[in-house]
Amino acid sequence: NSSRELAARALSGGTLPGLPNGHFIDGAFRAGAAGRSMASLDPGRAEPFADFARGDADDVDAAVQSARRAFETAWRDMAAAERGRILMRAAGLIRQNAARLAVAECLDSGKPLAEAEGDVGGAARAFEYYAGACDKLQGDSFPIGPTYLGYSLHEPVGVTAQIIPWNYPISTAARGIAPALAAGCTVVAKPAEQTPFTALMLADILRQAGLPDGVCNVVTGTGIEVGAPLSAHPGIDHITFTGSVASGQKVMRAAADHVTRVVLELGGKSPVVVLGDCDVERALDGVMGAIFENAGQICSAGSRLIVERSLHAPFVETLCRRAEALSIGHGLRNPALGPVNSAEQLARISGFIDRARDRGAEIVTGGATTTDPETGKGWFYRPTIVDNREPDDELVREEIFGPVLTVQVAEDADHALALANDSQYALVAGIYTGDFSRAHRFAHRVDAGQVFINEYFAGGIEVPFGGNRKSGFGREKGLEGLLSYCRTKSVAARI
Ligand code: NAD
Repeated sequence: NSSRELAARALSGGTLPGLPNGHFIDGAFRAGAAGRSMASLDPGRAEPFADFARGDADDVDAAVQSARRAFETAWRDMAAAERGRILMRAAGLIRQNAARLAVAECLDSGKPLAEAEGDVGGAARAFEYYAGACDKLQGDSFPIGPTYLGYSLHEPVGVTAQIIPWNYPISTAARGIAPALAAGCTVVAKPAEQTPFTALMLADILRQAGLPDGVCNVVTGTGIEVGAPLSAHPGIDHITFTGSVASGQKVMRAAADHVTRVVLELGGKSPVVVLGDCDVERALDGVMGAIFENAGQICSAGSRLIVERSLHAPFVETLCRRAEALSIGHGLRNPALGPVNSAEQLARISGFIDRARDRGAEIVTGGATTTDPETGKGWFYRPTIVDNREPDDELVREEIFGPVLTVQVAEDADHALALANDSQYALVAGIYTGDFSRAHRFAHRVDAGQVFINEYFAGGIEVPFGGNRKSGFGREKGLEGLLSYCRTKSVAARI
């Protein structure tokens, strides 16, 4: 298919020609105020492949002003059905441009091509879903009494900031931008400096779909030079931040100065509970995907396996065999496991495992860096499993954000639940069991924003997503994700 052909060309040429270079402000690409640029690196080769604009506070200011103008003159008061038509056209254009978007995402983030294709399909779904929701944002009426009329309006909050991480660039952009636009808000998006391209391409697609100038702007650059001034800008009414806890805390502090609303989607250390009565094949597939998809660089990765003692030894042995059989290589060759995103990530993962080795940890497979077998290049870490970990171990407590699974042994379902809840994070949780009562008892008692039963990562744009504890607060996706971009105004009249 066309993305495979384009991938082959990008692999031999080392880049994808025609990538945007400039911020997208007021409906057009333009160089930044200071005219600087920086390079994006291909993690599969550890080499630069394209330049992009390195923005600053002046570019942020231009984008916020453009978004404010567009909010007041073009978007807020457009008929909801017309907004929906534009978003639906954008979904179609995302699908038409899927091959280019997937290859760009793959070069930028390192992820395997099939995963990038899945992310692009998910982005189109987000626009379809919220396109259909535009004209269903209806308020209530209130029974104050026969001589009164009381009703509510869902108004758009205004100009929104979207601060996006590098692990799911187009999915995170789409799941924030689509509901913001559907609610009648305008957008200034800031993709991660490691992965700037698909957000820019998405903004251009929205323009082609008929989005008025200034409704969706993208400013590229670093967290300090673009993210910080964006989250501190007085013209921003709502911030959706996805990224690390440390950066999320800074964004929340900056937002406090102007009492700006924030939604924080932060890290995770999510448990996957496997009970003795489960369908073992299903559980094996689920655990493998939960930790090795996107090389484990997923906020909701299932990085803590909690397995009932009766199943422990054979289950871990089979996981090791499967982990060792995973193909490794440049994302554009569509392996099972691609590189990690950066040299810093690779060093961080190595640090965790080296310290665990010094503590005498049972690293039953993996535990080493590697390279693309075809070229000897790139930032790769072998799929790694560390058995018999105690709850207070650093590997169990800290988010590693790499292909590293820890194993804890549970005596029974109650013990498994207690281990699952023993974390500073509470983003998602998975359980594999043949007993539906046990599954739902776990779902009720586990602390998580989302629970997966017998299929890790089950769900889609329809299902609200977000965390508790240090995983953040607020929900994206689903209708709750749309309401996040609305403010309720109630009206009461004496008649
Ligand atoms: P990061 O926090 O360094 O960066 C995320 C984004 O924030 C980037 O665009 C970055 O430029 C920007 N940023 C950095 N410092 C900032 C500041 N002071 N002010 C404003 N913006 C700033 O995180 P990362 O390394 O890109 O991503 C990895 C982390 O993100 C992991 O911890 C992971 O769990 C988390 N994550 C969470 C989710 C989720 O939905 N909960 C999804 C993806 C990633």
